[in-house]
Amino acid sequence: MNTKRLPERKAARSYRESWILAGLALIGLILILRLPTYYVGLLAIVGINALVCMGLSFVLGTGQVSLGHAAFVGMGAYACAILSRDFGVPTLLAIPVSVLLCMAVAYVLGRVTLRLKGHSLPLATLAWGVAIYVCFVAAIDITGGASGFANIPALNLFGLALDTRGITLLAWLCVGLSYIAYRRIYRGRVGRIAKAIRAQSTMANAFGADVAAVKMKVFILSAALAALAGCLFAYYMRFLSPTSFAIGASFNYLIMVVLGGVAHPVGAVLGAAVFVAMEFGAQYLFATVLGVPGQMETMLFGALLILMLLRWPGGLLTWIKPREDVFAPPAATAAGMPQVADARPAVKRVEVDQVTKRFGGLQALKGVSVSVPTGRITGLIGPNGAGKSTLFNAVTAVVPATTGEVRIDGAPLPRHARDVIRTGMARTFQHVQLVPELTVLRNVMIGGYIDGRAGLLSSALGLDRAEEAIMAERARVALDQVGLLDTADRPIRSLPLASQRLVEVARALMSRPHVMLLDEPAAGLRAGEKAQLVALLKSLRDERGMAILLVEHDMELVMNCVDHIFVLNHGELLAEGDRSQIQTNPAVMSAYLGAEG
Ligand code: ADP
Ligand code: MG
Repeated sequence: MNTKRLPERKAARSYRESWILAGLALIGLILILRLPTYYVGLLAIVGINALVCMGLSFVLGTGQVSLGHAAFVGMGAYACAILSRDFGVPTLLAIPVSVLLCMAVAYVLGRVTLRLKGHSLPLATLAWGVAIYVCFVAAIDITGGASGFANIPALNLFGLALDTRGITLLAWLCVGLSYIAYRRIYRGRVGRIAKAIRAQSTMANAFGADVAAVKMKVFILSAALAALAGCLFAYYMRFLSPTSFAIGASFNYLIMVVLGGVAHPVGAVLGAAVFVAMEFGAQYLFATVLGVPGQMETMLFGALLILMLLRWPGGLLTWIKPREDVFAPPAATAAGMPQVADARPAVKRVEVDQVTKRFGGLQALKGVSVSVPTGRITGLIGPNGAGKSTLFNAVTAVVPATTGEVRIDGAPLPRHARDVIRTGMARTFQHVQLVPELTVLRNVMIGGYIDGRAGLLSSALGLDRAEEAIMAERARVALDQVGLLDTADRPIRSLPLASQRLVEVARALMSRPHVMLLDEPAAGLRAGEKAQLVALLKSLRDERGMAILLVEHDMELVMNCVDHIFVLNHGELLAEGDRSQIQTNPAVMSAYLGAEG
C-alpha cells in the first residue's frame, strides 16, 4: 500500500493563487474607490458581464451551447425592477426571488431543449432567447415595452442606498465569490464528470453519471448567475430597455466566453474585461480621436475579434496558461487507506445468453453466449470487426442487444448504462476516453463518482473536502496498482497513449468492481509494462477473486494470463476452451490466418 503525499510545490502554488487573488482584490478595491465615476461604471459592466460569462462558460464546458442567455439576464432585471418599483419589495428579497424565478424558467426550458443534440440545441436556445425578448417588448403594461422601464429605485442594503461605486463593489464581490465557487466546482466531483460529458458522454454514463441531470444542473446554475447579473444591472442602470437583452447581447456573452476560454473560470472574467475594453477602446479611438462617425468601430472590433480567435482558439487562457489543478486534492487525514464500505454487491457470474446485435443491415453479433465467472480471466479474441467491442457494449448496456439477454447472477442487466456500474462491473474503452483538461489523478477519481455524494452546491461551498480526500487517496492506490503513481499530478495529455490505457484500468479499479471488462488494454505497451499488466490481472483474480473479461490482440499476452478463451469471428462464436484447446483448434488457426495473412 502506498500513501505517498503531495509534493510541497503543490501547496506552494495554491498559496500563490490565493495571494494573487488577494492582491487583485486589493487593487480592484482601490480602483473602484479612486477612479472617476465613468471608469467605475465600466468596471461595473465588466463585473456584471463576468457573472453571466462564468455560468455560460461552464455550460459550454459541458458541450452545450446557449444562444439565449441574455433572456435570463433580462428576466432577472425586469423581475427585480418590477418587484422593487411596483411592489416595493426590498432589494434583499427582490434579488433572491428574481433569481429563483429564473431558475424555475431555466428548469422548464432545460427540460424541453437540453435533450436536443447537434445543431438543434443552439437553435432551440436561439428560439427561446428571441421569444423571451419579444415578450419584453410586447408586454408594454408590465415592462414599458420598447420605450423602457424607468424609475427603478436604488439598490438598498440595510438602509444604505448604493451609488455606482457601491454597486460596482457589490458586483465584484459577487464575481469573486462566484469565481471561488466555480473554481471549486471545476475540480469537484460533478465538475469532473461535467467536463467528461462534452466529448465522452459514453464514459460519463459508464461511471454512473446521469448525463441529462448533470447538464440540467449546470444550466440552471448558469441561469441563476445570469439572473443575479440582471438584478445588479437593473439597479445600476435604474432604467431598462429591452434592447439590452436582445439576441445580439446573447451573442456578445458567447463571444466573451470564447474569447476568454472555457477551460478555467478565470477565462470568463478575462473575456468580459477584454471585450468591454475593446468595445469602448474602439469607440473612443474612432469617435473622439479620429472623429470618424458611424459603424467604423464595430468593423474594427469585429476584425480584431476574428484575429484573436484565430490566433488563440483556446481563448486568452492559451496565453496565460492557468493550471487547472493549482489545488491538489486534500490529503486524507487518517493515516493509511481510508476505510469505505464496499458498496458493490459481490457478483459471481456474468452470462451472455444468445445475444444478437444488428446495426441496420449488418449483423455484428449472431447468437453469442459467453460466461464470465469470478476468479477467472476470460479472454475474448478474434480478428478485427469480429464483434468483440460490440459484445462489450452489449454487456455494459451501452448498446442494447437486439435479441438475447445478459444476466448478472441470474438478474437481468439494468436498462440504463449508468446503472451498470452499480452492479459491480467496470470497463475500459478501446479508444481511450479520458478528460484532457484534468490531471491523471482527477481522471482516475472519476471512477469513484458513484461512491461520492458531493453535488454542485457542496463543492461550491467547499464542503466536499473530506470526501475528496478519500477519493484522492483511493485514486492514488489505484494508480499505484498500475504503476503510474508518480504521474498523478501530470496533465493526462502528457502521458503516452499506452500509459493512458493503464490510467483507464486504474479508473475502472477505482470503482472497486467485481467484474472488469478490458478492451485491448495492452495496445502499445512495452514488454515490461505488459508483464506488469499480466501480474496485475493475475493478482486481481487471485487476491480479489475478480472476474476479468479481456479483449486483446496480443496473443502472447493472452496466452500468458487467460484461463479460458472465447473466439469470435464474423459475429459468431467460433471456439471456446482453455489455452491449449484454442491453440490447436484448426478453425481458429484458419480464421486468424485468413484474417491476418
Ligand atoms: P471488434 O471490436 O471485434 O474489432 P466491433 O465490435 O467493433 O469489432 O465491430 C463489429 C462490426 O460491427 C464491425 O463490422 C463494425 O463496423 C460494426 N459496428 C460496430 N459498431 C457499430 C455501430 N455503432 N454502428 C454500425 N456498425 C457498427
Ligand atoms: Mg474492438
